[in-house]
This record gives sequence, C-alpha cells and structure tokens, in this order.
Amino acid sequence: MTSLNLGILAHVDAGKTSLTERLLYDAGAIDRPGSVDAGTTHTDTLALERARGITIRSAVVAFTIGDVAVNLIDTPGHSDFIAEVERVLGVLDGAVLVVSAVEGVQAQTRVLMRALQRLGVPTLVFVNKVDRLGARPDGVLKEITDLLLPGAVAMGEAAGAGTRDAKVRRYDAAGPRLLDTLTRYDDRLLADWVEHPARVTPSRLATTLQDQVRAGLVQPVFFGSAISGAGVGDLADGIAELLRPAPADIAGPTSGVVFKVERQPEGTKVAHVRMFGGTLRVRDRVALAGREPARLTALQVYADGRVTSRAEVVAGEIAQVWGLTEARVGDVVGVPKPGAQHRFAPPALETVVDPVDAADTAARARLHSALARLAEQDPLIGLRQDDVRRELSVSLYGEVQKEVIAATLASEYGVRATFRETTTVCVERVIGTGAAYQVIAVDPNPFLATVGLRVEPGPPGSGVTFRLGVELGSMPPAFFVAVEQAVRETLREGLHGWVVDGCVVTMTHSGYWARQSHSHGSFDASMSSTAGDFRTLTPLVLMAALREAGTRVLEPVSRVEIELPDDCLGAVLAALTRLGGVPVDTGRRGPSTLLTGHLPAGRVHSLQQQLPTLTHGTGVLVTEFAHYAPVRGPVPDRARTDHNPLDRQEYLRRVGR
Ligand code: GDP
Repeated sequence: MTSLNLGILAHVDAGKTSLTERLLYDAGAIDRPGSVDAGTTHTDTLALERARGITIRSAVVAFTIGDVAVNLIDTPGHSDFIAEVERVLGVLDGAVLVVSAVEGVQAQTRVLMRALQRLGVPTLVFVNKVDRLGARPDGVLKEITDLLLPGAVAMGEAAGAGTRDAKVRRYDAAGPRLLDTLTRYDDRLLADWVEHPARVTPSRLATTLQDQVRAGLVQPVFFGSAISGAGVGDLADGIAELLRPAPADIAGPTSGVVFKVERQPEGTKVAHVRMFGGTLRVRDRVALAGREPARLTALQVYADGRVTSRAEVVAGEIAQVWGLTEARVGDVVGVPKPGAQHRFAPPALETVVDPVDAADTAARARLHSALARLAEQDPLIGLRQDDVRRELSVSLYGEVQKEVIAATLASEYGVRATFRETTTVCVERVIGTGAAYQVIAVDPNPFLATVGLRVEPGPPGSGVTFRLGVELGSMPPAFFVAVEQAVRETLREGLHGWVVDGCVVTMTHSGYWARQSHSHGSFDASMSSTAGDFRTLTPLVLMAALREAGTRVLEPVSRVEIELPDDCLGAVLAALTRLGGVPVDTGRRGPSTLLTGHLPAGRVHSLQQQLPTLTHGTGVLVTEFAHYAPVRGPVPDRARTDHNPLDRQEYLRRVGR
C-alpha cells in the first residue's frame, strides 16, 4: 500500500475542519462527521482550540482511499503560527488548500500558498461552501488563477451554486481546459496534440497531470461542500491519484526527521518521525545529531483511525518512535533528506513569564520545568533564563501565542502564569574586523591558556562560524572544543546583549601547559592547563575582539498585507507610517484595496489593534517575517544573563580562578 502524508490548509473559517471530518466519514474512518458548530470534531483536541474554534497543534489522523494509506497531518491556520505551519509542510507529500466559495482568496490563503510553493509541496485546491448563499465558484476560480496560481486548472464545475442542492460535475480528463494547461508546460505534448492527436491518450494525460502536479507546475481545482458532501468524493479521488508520491527508496540509507515530540502522561517521550528513505526497525540503534545512539524500543503507525504496533517502518511512512529519549523537533534520523535545508522564520518577539504568585519559589521552579518541556516539544518556543534577575522569558510569534502557552501550562502542567509586555527580539551583526589575544601566565591573564581570536563579518543568517587558524595538533582536542563551545555560548549575547548573527571567529593563537604531577603522583592544577582555563578565558578575549570589530543592532521587520475598503486607504497609510512602517505597493483584491508594506515586527500588534477602527471593522491584516533592518533611533540593550565578559573586573570576580 502506498502511503501519502497529506496536509489540509485554509484561511480560518474556510471549512478545513468540516472538510477533514467529511473526508474521514466518506473513508469510513469515523461513524458520523463531527460538527465544528456543535464542538464534536475529531481533530481539534485542545480545549482552547475548541473554545476558540481554531486548530493550533498538529495531530495525525489516518484513513484510506483505495490503495492509498493517507496520514492526514493537521496544520494550524492562524497567522501567529505560520512558522509551525511551515514546519509541518516539510513532511508532506501533498496538500489541499481550502478556499471558501463565498469569501474567496483571503490574505491568509496567499501566505499559505506562498509557503507551499517555497517548500515545493504538490497542491490541490478545494473551493468549499458551494452550497452557501453567496457562493461564486467561477469568480473565486478567477481569483485563484489571477491572484494566486497561474497553473490552477478547474477539474469540474458546480451547478446550482449558492443553494443547498448545489451539485458538482467532474470534467472529462481530455477536456480542452486541461489540455490547454498541460501543454503550456510540455512542448512534446503540444506538438503531438497538433500533429498526432492519436498519441494524446487519456492515460498519457493522466500521467502528465500527475507529473506536473508533483513538480508544482499545476494545481487542480475541485469544487464542493464539506457540509453536504458534494464534490468531496472527486476531491478524495484527486488526492489518491494526483498527490500519490513517487515510490520511496526503502532499500536506501535511513533518512527521517522528527516533526513532533510528545510526552505520555507518565512521562515517556514519543518522537513522531517522517521517514524519507530506508527502514527503521525496533531494536535499531539510532544516533540523532551529535548525541549518543539510543535503541528503539517500539514503533507504531497510524492506520484506520487507530495506532498499531509494528516491527519496522519504511520510507514514506510516519511513525511514533519509542526510545529516542533525547529527541527534539527537527532532529534528523540517519542522513538528512536531500535538499531539506529550510530555515524557519525566527520568532520576532519575547515576553517575560511569571508564576501568578510571583513570590512562590516552588511555583517558579514548576513553571521553569513546564516551559522547558514545552520548548523541547517545540523548538520555536525559545526559553531564556536570567539568573541575575530571576526571570524566565519565552520567544513568540504573536500575541495569540501567549494565550496558547498560558492555557497549555494550566491544562497540561497545572501551572498558572502571567505574561509581561511583549518586546522585540533584535540581533547583532558584526560590522568590522577585530582581534585580541592573551598569552598563558602573562599578566593580566590569570588563566593557564593562550587564546587569540579574530572576529569578522559573515553572511547574514549564517550564525556563528568557527575556524582554526592554528595547527590542530598544537593542543589536545578537548581544549579546542572548550574554546569553540565558549565562543558559541558567548555570542548568544553580543555587545548589546542580543544574539550575534553573521560572524566568523578564527582562532589565531593557542598554547597550554602540559599536565604536571607532583612527585607523589597527584595532578597539579596550578601548573597544568585544563579545559576550564580555555572555557573561562575565551569570553574575555572574544569580547575584546568583538568590541574592536563593532556590531550593529537590527530589528525584525514584517511584511504586512492589508485588505481594506478603498475609502480607508488614507487613514491606514497614515497609521502605518506613524508606526514606523513603509508602504511598498497598493493594488486591488476583489472589491478591496490591497496595501502591502513593511513594519517593524514589534509594531504589528498595534496596527492590528487599530485596524478595526480605521476600516469600519472590515480590514484584514496578514503578516510574515520579511528581513532584519538596522534599528532606527536609540539602540535597545538587552540585560545580560552571563557573567558579563564585557566587564573584566566583574567577570573575574564572578568566575574566579
Ligand atoms: P475552519 O476554520 O477552516 O476549520 O472551518 P470550519 O470547518 O470550522 O467551518 C467554519 C464554518 O463554516 C462552520 O460554521 C461550518 O459549519 C461552516 N462550513 C464549513 N464548510 C461549509 C460548507 O461546505 N457549506 C456550508 N454551508 N458551511 C460550511
């Protein structure tokens, strides 16, 4: 049986949840479709999701269509979580993008489509709600081809749209529309169609369509209603025929990725792994990047709405894996999937989290361990601890995420937390070159280590690159490791306290004193270098070099897309500019004006709050990370959480030797 990892994506309210229930029902995986309106769906699990009617955390549901075993991986729809959407997209073989036949292409639909294309995920479009009053399937199809996807092609049409008896008719595979689209991307097919029409057989067209969908050139569009079920059968056939993945390499090297980590109620960790190549067996020893190999103790797969145990899982499948106690989301199992080097947009915001009773130290400890668990399940939740001020902060993508984290802490860990005001997370880029060194036992170096470092700018987004400018044999390897680790740790807080990005550090000097022992054989730490000497000296040398090189503080800037009534453009432009934003373009989207611009990420929430007043309650705002730009105005500093190697005296007092 072929397995297909499928995602359904949609603008909130387009009908993703209802469509999921209908597909499950049609496939016989559930007895009756749950209703969003009655709060009885099978895929929205968290209480908060039910309360808000949105899906936040991905879940997997399995069903079969013909000979295809579909793993439906639920993807969140809220724009705060686009990064989580992207993480899930990386494991998909294909996606269905749901668009409402009434509301049409929304700003969020475009954000999702852009993400799908960026990651090369084959996509079908489902124009839902054709039964609803005001449905305009033809207009929406035009919006899709004009605004979203030039390669979109209708696979059928809706009759009686806008009424409860709306029906859907599927087009003949060899119809003119499809031929027209397919020949656009296939010259040989075009030539044959003109010169040898007999060679253009239905089976050739079917294969060509499948290939072009797989290559991301063509996006078939289906019509229907998740509520009445009209057209959902055609969509299901389309999923099985057109999104069916190419056969996976089961005999090849093992390749997989951890895309979700869960803890069972009793604390056991379960890693959800998407297999791209090879086979994984119970009792295999598996090493995740840079960690000790662990033995797999159990494997389970999703099948027919249930989870079943297996002795092995193969390329193409998704498995729940027991035994990988160190697993984190994003970890590669075996060799990486070829070409899978996607970087997620970094979180742009952070907030300090306190227990509701700030004086309760036990509550603070519980909060810390709960947040650490959350961060382990979700690498996009960054946790930062400031021991000096006894503060915990988490990184965020948007304000709604605070609510989600608060609700998860309360329901899953019994911890009640409050959040302070959200602040922007900046980065520091190196702008020049600087160098420094200190020689072993030469004043003012109190450490038994020689360390020299040069700091230079590296490509933006490349983080920290460490190089050796000295002979590898000049010191025991453990000392080099200590220097490199200290360099990476220290650069988490640059001259202004922000993470340093785009930085090449070269070790230019090295030296140590070999292990000395007293005549009676005991080790003499006053005469022998230790890894600790290198670890403690490195931050002082590095900061001296970094100070000479200089850094610039940059803030995250979001791309904003605002749909608004024409007569509100002036007011919205003024608000955008007042907040430090820059308009980039204006255009039309259906009956509305579409304004795009750039805005510092820290101001997006203010704009969001003003928008209803500025647009009579009708404006729609969608944002995504665009780039970093130098901070304008006063440069913000972030309080340090380390021993402050910028202040030599204070540093030496704190670390001692
Ligand atoms: P989601 O936010 O994308 O998951 O959308 P839901 O499935 O929660 O649907 C949003 C609302 O639209 C609910 O009130 C559904 O009952 C309704 N809805 C969804 N699909 C259809 C449809 O095909 N026809 C009609 N008439 N209503 C629908």
